[in-house]
Parts: sequence; structure tokens; C-alpha cells
Amino acid sequence: MGRPNVGKSTLFNRLAHRRIAVVDDEPGVTRDRIYAMARPVGARFHLIDTGGVAQATEDQFAISIRDQARVAIEEADLVVHLCDARAGLHPDDRFVAGMLRQAGKPTVTVANKVDARDAEDLLPELYELGVEEVLPISAAHGLGVGDLVDKILATLPRELSDSAVQQFETEAAQPRTRAERRAAARAADEAPRPEELAPELDDAPDEVSIPDELKVAVVGRPNAGKSSLVNALLGEPRMVVSEIPGTTRDAVDTLLERDGRRFRLIDTAGLRRKRSVARKVEKLSVVVAVRAIEECHLALLVVDGYEGITEQDAKVAELAHEAGKALIIVVNKWDLVQEGARNRQEYTKRVHKELSFVSYAPVLFISAARNEGVSDVLPKVLEVARDHFTRVSTSKLNKALQRTMERHHLPAYKGRRVSLYYCTQVAVAPPTIVVAANMPEGVHFSYRRYLVNALREEFGFQGTPLRVMFKRRGKDIGRAGHTHRKRTDPRTHG
Ligand code: GDP
Ligand code: GDP
Repeated sequence: MGRPNVGKSTLFNRLAHRRIAVVDDEPGVTRDRIYAMARPVGARFHLIDTGGVAQATEDQFAISIRDQARVAIEEADLVVHLCDARAGLHPDDRFVAGMLRQAGKPTVTVANKVDARDAEDLLPELYELGVEEVLPISAAHGLGVGDLVDKILATLPRELSDSAVQQFETEAAQPRTRAERRAAARAADEAPRPEELAPELDDAPDEVSIPDELKVAVVGRPNAGKSSLVNALLGEPRMVVSEIPGTTRDAVDTLLERDGRRFRLIDTAGLRRKRSVARKVEKLSVVVAVRAIEECHLALLVVDGYEGITEQDAKVAELAHEAGKALIIVVNKWDLVQEGARNRQEYTKRVHKELSFVSYAPVLFISAARNEGVSDVLPKVLEVARDHFTRVSTSKLNKALQRTMERHHLPAYKGRRVSLYYCTQVAVAPPTIVVAANMPEGVHFSYRRYLVNALREEFGFQGTPLRVMFKRRGKDIGRAGHTHRKRTDPRTHG
């Protein structure tokens, strides 16, 4: 947070790893950007960017930004208050500091634009804000940003900073960035050799390892019917229900237990209801969706069937896809859809066309308010979870790879034959398959897509993103003494 022009966007961009823009139809709510970040600093945060807060003006726009800032403060575990060392202390800095004091949130005060030593001379002035420490940084040049992250970790309550670091480490297991993809490729190096190269190895069956407690996020636009769906689920026969402390701060999760299987519902509507200010700027519910999705194994995207798919729905679906989470699209208010348009097959086609990047997500049709179709939801959740957490045996995968290549040869690349030698699944949730090739760079995008589709056809992978990466490997690799450790060039396709 900070007044206009102190360098918030600049800092934001420097920290950003992945961003989700929230674009709003309401005037004045266009500037918040939210995303999850994972940086070399070794911790993981969600950042909320707010507009510049100013006290003097009373125009609607400024007021709306202030309201939004209040929501952001309420939503946050910690606030970074950015000031401009070059401009010195400004009345609006005091105003922001006052807001933060009132909110009582842990705060780190930062003097930006300290590009050179001379600007540090201005720091004493900023101490008039009555804070213990003012941290000098230069967002534009990246100076002091590492210290800022350390300071944030030191200021957060212990359990939060621990979890930020831990989450970062856990996530390193899932390829998102180039470095992480490289790490996954290394894991593939260490994976057991496939049967083609060592026939005595691997005829192991598929492994399915669904966690004891499946975390399910219920996300979607305000009024789509999330609460109605949760309530309907709670009322199902044989359901044992208990409320437990939330996975995200302030949240109350609902634990459902049926037939010995536990589901933890991360109910974002319930969260929203608890926040009085949030009503005003409901679009910030995307912040909540971001958190819930990061926490979950599987997301239920509830859409208003009468209104159809909106841009925000697409955004949330994209979030789930990017984060490698399983996804089910729940079309609610099916009762409101006119009889002529009430064709599930047609509707599903349309949903998959509009959300083509998650065309693997099954589409359910329900009417939560009338309790119709609700009993299909949890069985589908289990079905999808099974695929999300399946590790397909290497031998089965390679048979499928062989068939796929026979049906459709790889085009040559730069006059040379491209060969795919074998593949192995290196991770679940989402399933991640590494294919060894002589020239990973020569595998055309369309072939990659063909392969992904073929693997889906073969193994289902219903409702889950599928990551396929190619890495370089010599033909006789894996035989003792003949290991070429050439540059790896893994590429993903979801
Ligand atoms: P915001 O309104 O708070 O989001 O501020 P911006 O990020 O848009 O930055 C406002 C201006 O300050 C831009 O012209 C930036 O280039 C400049 N700026 C941001 N950070 C630095 C910095 O570390 N040093 C200097 N000299 N200028 C900066
Ligand atoms: P949330 O904001 O996503 O939690 O949405 P709610 O569950 O609060 O529902 C928003 C509104 O839609 C309420 O007025 C519900 O009664 C209504 N609603 C929810 N599900 C259905 C449905 O299946 N059919 C119809 N006609 N209305 C529904």
C-alpha cells in the first residue's frame, strides 16, 4: 500500500511470478492485481496490489480506492507500506500510516527509490511516521528487495512465515518455472528404467494414492450458488459434518465424512459472508478464490447456468489449471435454463469451447436450490481425484507411447529423425510425464498436443491437468557407463 506514484507497481512487478488481473465492470475497481508468487527468495506469498491511496480528494474514484484498500488490509496477513524517499514525507503517507495503525496489522514500512546512498539522507524524515524501522529499497533497481522479503518473514507470526517457506519448498516438487521443470527432468533421470531398456523392470500396477482428507475448494462468482451447493451437500444422507478451523486464515472449513471418506470443503462463500466490507467490493472474492485454489486438491467451479460462462469464471478456471489442480465445472441453476436450451450435451460442448484450456474438466448440471443433481457431485469428485492421484505404470505408459507413435509418425526436424525413446510418470497431482527424446526441441507443438490427447484417451486423466515434458536423452542412456548428461530441454504442455 501507499500513496500514488511511490513505486507500488514497480515493486509488484519485481516480486511478481504469476499474476491474475482482476478487471471489473464497476468504475474504480480496475487496479487490483492479485497473484501467487514463488521467487528464489525461498518463500511464497500472495500479493494484493491496491491503487494509490490519497486523503485529500473526495471524488468517487478515490473513495472507492480507499474502500478497496481497506478490504485489502483486512484480507492481508501483513502490509508493506511503501513511501518515496526522494519525495520525502507526504501528508498522504501519514494518512496511510494512520489507516494501518487503526487496522492493527503487522506492517513493514519501506522507503523506495533509494537508488544511491544520497537518498538515504531522507530516511529520517520518514521516521516521523512513528514506525520502528524504515527499510530502504530501490524497486526499480532491485536493491534491498531480498532484505524486504526477509523482513516480511521476520515480521509475520511464526506459523505463517513457516508455512510460506514450507509451501515454497513443497511446490518445488511441481514444475511451474523453468528451473522447476529442470528439477523434474532430473527426477526422471533417477526414475527406474522402462521395460524397453530393462525388460525385467517395472510391471508394477498403477498406484492410486488419494489423500485421507481430500481438500475441495468451492469457487465461483458471487451468487453462482456456492453456499446453496455447500448446504445441499451438508444435507445429504449418511453425511457426517463438522466445522473445523480453516486452511486459510479466518476461514472455517467444513469437514464432510461419508462412507469412511473425508472431504474438507474450503467454502469461499462462507468466507465472504463473514466480511462486512467485502460486500462492497465483491470482486475481491477472487483473492479468496486464489487462496482456496492454492490450498485445495480439487476445485469445484460453480457457474450460473442461466448467465453462462463469464470472464471471471474463465479466470478462476485458468487459476486452477495453472496451479495444476483438478477441476470440475458445476453448472448450477439448471432449473432456470429454458427448456429449449436445456441440452446437457450441447451445453457441455459450449462450456468446453469457451474454456478450451480445461476441456478435460467434467461438467455437472445441478440445481442446488432444488437439491437436484447434488448427489452426483461427491462421486464425481472421487472419480476425478482418482485420476489426479494416479501413477500409471511405466510399462503401460510406454506401450501407449509406442502405439501413439505408430499411428502417427513424428515429423522430421531439420532433416533429422526425431525419436521418442520412452516415458515415465514422475509426479501425481497433477500427473506429470517425462518423455525422453533425442531432440526435444524438434518435437512440434502439434505433436505434443497429439500425444497429450492420446495419453488422455488411453488413461482418462479425467478432470486433471496433465503435464508432459520432453527431455534430451541418448538412445542407450541408462546403461551403466554410457550416460550422456547432455543439456536437458524439458517443455511442458498442459
Ligand atoms: P505506483 O503509482 O505507486 O504504482 O508507482 P509506479 O510503480 O507506477 O512508479 C511511479 C514512478 O516512480 C515511475 O516513474 C517509476 O519508474 C518510478 N520508480 C519506481 N521505483 C523506483 C525506484 O526505485 N527508483 C526510482 N528512481 N524511480 C522509481
Ligand atoms: P453464492 O454467492 O455463490 O454463495 O450463491 P448463493 O448460494 O448465495 O445463491 C445465490 C442466489 O441464487 C440465492 O438467491 C439462491 O437462492 C439462488 N440459487 C442458488 N441455487 C439455485 C438454483 O439451483 N436455482 C435457482 N433458481 N436459484 C438458485
